[in-house]
Parts: sequence; structure tokens; C-alpha cells
Amino acid sequence: MSQITVIAGGPLIADVKTVFAKGLLAFDDQGVIYAGEAAGYDPPAHARRLDVQGGLIMPGLINAHCHGAMTLFRGLADDLLLEDWLHKHIFKAEARFVGPAMVGLCTRLAAAEMLLGGTTTVCDAYFCMDQAAEAYQAAGMRAVVAQGILDFPTADCPDPARNLDLARQFIQRWQGVSPLITPALFAHSVYTCSPQTLTGVADLARELGVIWMTHLSETVAEVALTRRMHNNTPPRHLEALGLLDGLNVAVHCSALAPGEAELLAQRGVAVASCVESNMKLSSGLAHIPTLRAAGLTVALGTDGAASNNDLSMFGEMRLDALTSKIYSADPSCLPASQALDCATRQGARALGLGAVCGRLAPGLAADVVILRGDEPRLQPMYNPLSLVVYAAGAADVRHVFVAGRQVVENGRLLTMDLAQIMAGVRQLAVDVGRA
Ligand SMILES: [Zn+2]
Repeated sequence: MSQITVIAGGPLIADVKTVFAKGLLAFDDQGVIYAGEAAGYDPPAHARRLDVQGGLIMPGLINAHCHGAMTLFRGLADDLLLEDWLHKHIFKAEARFVGPAMVGLCTRLAAAEMLLGGTTTVCDAYFCMDQAAEAYQAAGMRAVVAQGILDFPTADCPDPARNLDLARQFIQRWQGVSPLITPALFAHSVYTCSPQTLTGVADLARELGVIWMTHLSETVAEVALTRRMHNNTPPRHLEALGLLDGLNVAVHCSALAPGEAELLAQRGVAVASCVESNMKLSSGLAHIPTLRAAGLTVALGTDGAASNNDLSMFGEMRLDALTSKIYSADPSCLPASQALDCATRQGARALGLGAVCGRLAPGLAADVVILRGDEPRLQPMYNPLSLVVYAAGAADVRHVFVAGRQVVENGRLLTMDLAQIMAGVRQLAVDVGRA
């Protein structure tokens, strides 16, 4: 019989509509057994018990869009427009420094930062993804690992003509290997992928039964460029190619034209909004209440650490809620419950993991975060959802479990040697800083 863990002693957010004042969560490595009021469950004598001493028990957060290994480029180039930031700095640094060892090391740093900050699932879209998948496995973190594809040479594919073959091999290597790792495909954008490449990615995703995603309508400049290249906006370009129906996640959508949110909803596309990155690059703003009203599943992502510059989903939730209010001149826009829903249940749904994680209910995985009960900024607790979105931060995370396994205990990462990882990244950064 597998070990049952029983967590009690604080409020439990099972999902944004189901909050228990004196909660109890029981689970094993197969999933959640009970999520409810403490009085409703009699723990077996052999269970491991964890008293959270007033701390809040909640589902792990889901970062629906990230480029994990870009932690190496955190703070390398700030305060620039996307086009200058990307073409004058990031693409050059990537061409020089991205490789298998760098991705393995810097993705471990990203995984550590996210787990310590209460994120239990990430969708990481980048290059050298064998090493990224190994990093998330080592971290004990749930990850959708999406092989990046574009039409110019990359660290793992010097010949772009082979990018789909290599992506196929990557998917086939990782399908069914680990319940934590889901391989996927990431076509970088409509301005770096030809119609032929985009069609190839969509066909491969359908053939292998994986999800695919792309950056879409991030800036008005991207929309103008796509109009020049293809005489269409990015979503309508994909629609004309017959690819919108089948696209799983459109990342950003911060420069959509009228009617395009409805079009994405009709085609079943989910949106991963990355508001903090969009704000930093002055890209524009996805108006999440409008997207939700159009019927879209809206997940939240941090994007890479080079444009955020942290990987905190607490920061993302708060900024999403606040920008929605200022954008609408309406403080009732995107209340805490909806912001947390985007970062949990909707995130899981967008990534095809709705039956796996995103809330705490019997049969779902025990991806659990427990906040400190003794933080001044978390007192008092009238409404746990308000506290999570408007007051809590990554530093308030005390314990984290992924698939029932404890990966963070009292703010300390249990699965990897964090000091060694940080020393390795600092060493790499010396060369990046000199370049
Ligand atoms: Zn991105």
C-alpha cells in the first residue's frame, strides 16, 4: 500500500468555488483521496500527517508559457521594445550560448525557482528539449516540454530543413516515459515559421497526438509585419492556412483585432496570456475579461525570465487582475477568484491536463502548495482567494508536493542541489556578460 499523506490545520482551496475553512487533504502517489472539511475524514492510523499551522493549502500553480533556460539571460537586456530586444540582443545571445549543457543547467534553475514559488506545472517551449525534460524530471516538476521550431538554425537544429524530423524524434523519445513529462511542439511564430513549417508542425502534432502552440499577435508591429508578409493578421493567416482549428495554445494575443477572440474561441484555441512580459516590453495588453467573455480558456504564463524577469505566478495573477481593472476602468474586472482560476484550472485545461491537475479533487494528482501561516502580510484571512492573489508572493510558499511527492519542505528544495545549480549558472553568466 502506498503512503497516505494527510495535510490539515489550515484553510483549503480545492478550487476557486470550493474553499474549506478547516480543510483537510489526503492523498498518495496515485492522487487525491479526500479534499474537504477536516471533520469529514478519518485518517488511517498509518498516514503521514502534516499540520500546516494556519497556512493555506491550495492547488499548485500552472505556468502555461515559459522558456525555462532563458533564466541565463535574466536582466541581460531590459527596457527595450520586443523587436530590438529580440533581434539585437536575445537571438544573438541564444545563437552563441544555447546548447544542451546550458539548457540542462538553466532549466534546472528555472524549475527550482518555480517549485520554490508554488508553480507545480510548466509549459516550457524552447530548444534542446531532451535536456529540459531531463531537468524537469530531476526537479520532480510536472512539465509540458515543447520542442521549438523555426526557419533559421537553432542550437539543436543547425539545418532548418530537418527541424520537423528532429521534433518527431524528440516526441517519440518522451511519449510515455514519465507521467510528469508531456512532450509537445512549439512553432515560434508566424513571422519565423513559413506556412509550410506551420503546416508541418500542425500535421505532426495531429499525427503524434500532442499539443502545439505558437506566439500569436504579441505586438502591433508583429501584426503589421504579418500583414506585409501574408496580407493577413496572425490569427487570420493561420485560419487561411486551415491551422487555427487544431492549434491548442495561442501565446500572448495582446494585439488581437476585433472579432479575433471570438474566432479563436470558435476554433477551440486556448490563450496563454503573459501580461508581465507584455508590460515590460510595452507590447500591449491581452484583456483577459474580454477573452473570457468570448468563451476562451485563458491561462497565464510568465514567458522567459529575460522579459519578466522572474517566474512567479503570484506576480502574474496579481498583475493580470490589476491591469484588467485599469484597462476597463472597472475594479470588478477579473476578481481574485478568476485570476486564480486562470492560474490553476484554466491553465491545466489549456495544456490538455484538465483531468490531471489544476484543482484538488479525488482522482486528480496531488499537486499541492502550502503557504506559510506566520507571514505578517498574510494576516488576517477573511477571504483566502483574495489573500493568494492580492497579498501572497512566491516567498510565502512553505511546502510543495507534485504527484504526491514532496519537492519543497520549509522553503527548501528537496530534489536537486540548488547551490551547485546557481554556482553553475553564475559561472556561465560571466561569459554571457563579457560577450
Ligand atoms: Zn514566449
